[in-house]
Amino acid sequence: MTRPADKLRIDPDRLWATLMETAVFGATARGGLCRLALSAEDAAVRRWFVAACEAAGCTVTVDELGDIFARRAGADPTLPPIAIGSHLDTQPTGGRFDGILGVLAGLEIVRTLNDSEIVTRHPIEVVDWTNEEGARFAPAMLASGVFAGAFGADYARDRADRDGVTFEAALQAVGFKGPHPAGDHPLAAHFELHIEQGPVLEDAGMEIGVVTGVQGIVWLDVEIAGLACHAGTTPMGLRRDALQGAARLAQAVDAVGRADPGVSLSTIGVFEAYPGSRNTVPERVRMTVDLRHPRVEGLERMEAEFRAAAAEIAAALGLDIAVTPVWSSPPVVFAADCVDAVRQAAARLGYSRRDIVSGAGHDSVYVSRVAPTGMIFVPCQDGISHNEAEAITPTQAAAGADVLLHAVLAFDRGDDVA
Ligand SMILES: [Zn+2]
Repeated sequence: MTRPADKLRIDPDRLWATLMETAVFGATARGGLCRLALSAEDAAVRRWFVAACEAAGCTVTVDELGDIFARRAGADPTLPPIAIGSHLDTQPTGGRFDGILGVLAGLEIVRTLNDSEIVTRHPIEVVDWTNEEGARFAPAMLASGVFAGAFGADYARDRADRDGVTFEAALQAVGFKGPHPAGDHPLAAHFELHIEQGPVLEDAGMEIGVVTGVQGIVWLDVEIAGLACHAGTTPMGLRRDALQGAARLAQAVDAVGRADPGVSLSTIGVFEAYPGSRNTVPERVRMTVDLRHPRVEGLERMEAEFRAAAAEIAAALGLDIAVTPVWSSPPVVFAADCVDAVRQAAARLGYSRRDIVSGAGHDSVYVSRVAPTGMIFVPCQDGISHNEAEAITPTQAAAGADVLLHAVLAFDRGDDVA
């Protein structure tokens, strides 16, 4: 059945003009943005955003961590809002679209619904989550994490930047400390449009990425201990060469990453041998291991295979290999009804599309703990992001915003999308 709403499209020129209009806040000479969380530049774009949302008829509230919620009323005031959220802060040499597209597409959707006088059942709430990037205050996705209960609000308030300025002090300085407790209201759903920040969609010639989840990460520190000895006097069979053990282990790490082609990823980012002398057999190697997989069982299998390889190499070469967990982030699988809403919206609008697992973290990672969540990716040029050269076309921005609009409307109607 064709619904009149199916003809609805956002205004591509207005969306692009809005993106460019806000790109003056924190603009860099090389065409990017430096808009660190709760900086003067971030405050400027926040003030712009609040004014624009109010001009579009939204009621704006701010919570105790500076998260901005711009609500367009729905027909049924008893229903929780469908949130459209992302972030307006950037990396120090960031681009003009990472996060920003997701927030301003939300504003464009509100304007589009206004133009067509469409009343949704649920309220629609456009959200700017504070400090997504983690560039000024670590960790990343801080305020959405508090909203979802992953961190306490006090933990967020106490985070300090490089100059010792706390999140709380910065928030008060820019005048965006609101009265509402973080996480004080439920969301019917959370939808986030974001640039892919990787090369997969562009490489595949796809217009839309239907994000099914976010891959999990395990970080390990590895310390390999052997024995330092003279390179000229110690026969090969009598050595306990830490570097040779590390070399074999490096190959094992690579094999673990290739075991599930196109899905699993493994990286050794740091590799240091000691004492670092030309004619001494290395006694110690320190390396880091980064394992990624979209499913819990996959990630566990990768770590188990890595540990088994380490034990085998240690026994074969007479080495001690210590593996220490440093940090991990479990895989996220988005809600099936939200993912389907995105997939079917892309299909109805005639866009080429493929399922994709996010390689990067997003506010949706945490929000998905408390609300059904879906994400849409659009390709970015050469997959470049966290870079002033980050680029998308107006057509790509509009495609993502139209899919977002129709996914939200389908969720609002409660379409049977299965
Ligand atoms: Zn982002």
